[in-house]
Amino acid sequence: MTPEIYLDGNATSPVLPAAIAAAVRAMEDCYGNPSSSHSTGLQAKALLDGARRRAVRLLGVGQGRLMFNSGATEGIQTAVLSALCALRERRQAGEAIGTLLVYGATEHKAVPEALAHWNRLLGLDLELRKLQVDSDGRHDLQALRALLPHTAMLCTMAANNETGVLSDIAGIEVLLDECASPAYWMVDCVQALGKFRLSLARSRIDYAPFSGHKLYAPKGIGMLYVREGAPFTPLIVGGGQEAAQRSGTENMAGVAALDAVLAALEQGGVFRSHDALCTFRERLAASLRRALPGVVFNAAFEHSLPTTLNFSVPGLSSKELMDVFDAAGVRVSSGSACSAAKAAPSYVLQAMGVPDWRAASAIRLSFGPLADEAAIARACERIERCGAALRASGLIAPDGSLPVQDGVQQLGSGGACSWLVHDAASRSCVVIDPQPEFMDRIAAQVRGQGCTVLAVLGTAPGVDLAAPGRALNVAYGAGDTFGWPAADGLLALGGQALRRVLVDADGAQQAVYLLGRPDAGALPQSAARHAFIGTLAPRQLDGLVHGDTLLCAASDAQQPFCSSLHASAPESGGSQGELHLDAAALQGLLRAHPDALLVDVRESHEHLVGVQAPQGGKVVSVPLGQLAGQIPEWMAAPVPLVFFCRSGNRSTRAAQCLRRLGYAQAYDLAGGLALAA
Ligand code: PLP
Repeated sequence: MTPEIYLDGNATSPVLPAAIAAAVRAMEDCYGNPSSSHSTGLQAKALLDGARRRAVRLLGVGQGRLMFNSGATEGIQTAVLSALCALRERRQAGEAIGTLLVYGATEHKAVPEALAHWNRLLGLDLELRKLQVDSDGRHDLQALRALLPHTAMLCTMAANNETGVLSDIAGIEVLLDECASPAYWMVDCVQALGKFRLSLARSRIDYAPFSGHKLYAPKGIGMLYVREGAPFTPLIVGGGQEAAQRSGTENMAGVAALDAVLAALEQGGVFRSHDALCTFRERLAASLRRALPGVVFNAAFEHSLPTTLNFSVPGLSSKELMDVFDAAGVRVSSGSACSAAKAAPSYVLQAMGVPDWRAASAIRLSFGPLADEAAIARACERIERCGAALRASGLIAPDGSLPVQDGVQQLGSGGACSWLVHDAASRSCVVIDPQPEFMDRIAAQVRGQGCTVLAVLGTAPGVDLAAPGRALNVAYGAGDTFGWPAADGLLALGGQALRRVLVDADGAQQAVYLLGRPDAGALPQSAARHAFIGTLAPRQLDGLVHGDTLLCAASDAQQPFCSSLHASAPESGGSQGELHLDAAALQGLLRAHPDALLVDVRESHEHLVGVQAPQGGKVVSVPLGQLAGQIPEWMAAPVPLVFFCRSGNRSTRAAQCLRRLGYAQAYDLAGGLALAA
């Protein structure tokens, strides 16, 4: 397994060895309850008090409150609850409190969610208002000036978790003073801790939440600062711990670990200086520029944390970039960790008004102040390896010399699909059912391959393909058959040919294209290896195809990839037997069947950055888009096939498809390469 290079520090960090040691000590030697009055309890209390004193010194808390809690989400709730309870009381006492709860458009979701939740629960009925940011991601201070006279609470962040953009906290403070605003002010300091010096009591900030796991402490420990005199209402009541500010027996292992991190910050010499971090950022940026032509950085370096680079690459989606980085062992993220699993483009980048393609392609690379020369050098080398793999697979820098593989290629899965049929020898291809969302990709691919598009064909009745036909330089045609030779003829494509058949479907004529090796100028049903069937159901294909013809639809939402007349229904799961193999089962299979193939269904650029065969078996690369093209060969000479990918998602779908088609010896590697380490 490729050793990991962790560049997702804004999501969470590894734990500082000194913090691990401190946590272990707290559990082994200092396990008392700090509320107990015996000696064991007193020792724990001393640890807790010492940690608090250090945090108070380091953050410049002055006479304010500093309480330990579970993390920033809790700190945010407590701050919002405290401010909103005070606002409710003031309003009930007849005071004008303003009408708005204002929050920065790029805040972590915990902030607007907490505002909406407590506003509703407390029956305040204030209006939540987003404070817009400019194209640099910084708050619009003019807009804020206009809002302040009506603002009851203001929530801004010190540094953004997705882009690293630093807010103009001093500028906001000046505005609050100039407008003599009585608004309560929360500043989310999660991404600021350890990156620059804080002196909270000297500022006008009322509430500042912190989170341990963003700076080398474990998850589940955080802190909340509350300015002296700022209203406070506990979120959790009970045994009166933390001076009755946050009840519940303290997470002493977490406190000890956080204290070790704060000690390292206080003593210096452990974390890199700002200048050193800026140099690391320059080196990473230079590698990204070399590896990924046209890379655009989504936040200006002069206004952002040196530890965060947010970038986009023309022509590549976040997912494609994430996948290739992950395959190379480089852990980055496609936005904040909370939203990384969702496909939606980043609301932070959208708020900055970045073009859609950049929001859809964005990657966040973030490291921590513990990074060292060697780790950055390794990261740069891997980034450049990713660039080379993307070039070799044709995803970037197309130059007309990219390889063309014979066969059928599918674009899109889980919804609308387009299909391409290639002939490598003549560098030509045919496009079937070109979906608008894949047109850019198809055009870039055929340009990169220097391929001639012979025809652009549609299956749907009445579809007009003039636009894609022209975009792909097909010389002639009309309606759904751009480039089709003659009404009933065959379109030759190397040794294969396409035959067009019209099927009456609910009173309309839908086209079906059969693909196979012609015999004496004809392509009988028995010779059709693939059929591009548009939206027809298998029962509408009677007499057109044979039982094993692979049916390639214009949408594979129901039957992922392809099906056949012999295939079983998707819900039946195909032929019997365990589909998922764990490491031990895979070993057993490889021992019993040395001819078994391990099929890497990740994209070819993911494969190219290097893969160690799980259990050392024989590996072939068949990205999902080429699955339908490859299946007939496997069917002709079956051997056990074990599909694998990063997480097990893609490989499960591939194995299920083969099982449905009656291929009994298809399996997937459970949990993917992520768990095979
Ligand atoms: N605020 C910011 C800016 C963050 O980055 C995060 C974590 O992603 C949070 C708040 C929530 O922190 P926690 O995970 O400690 O609840």
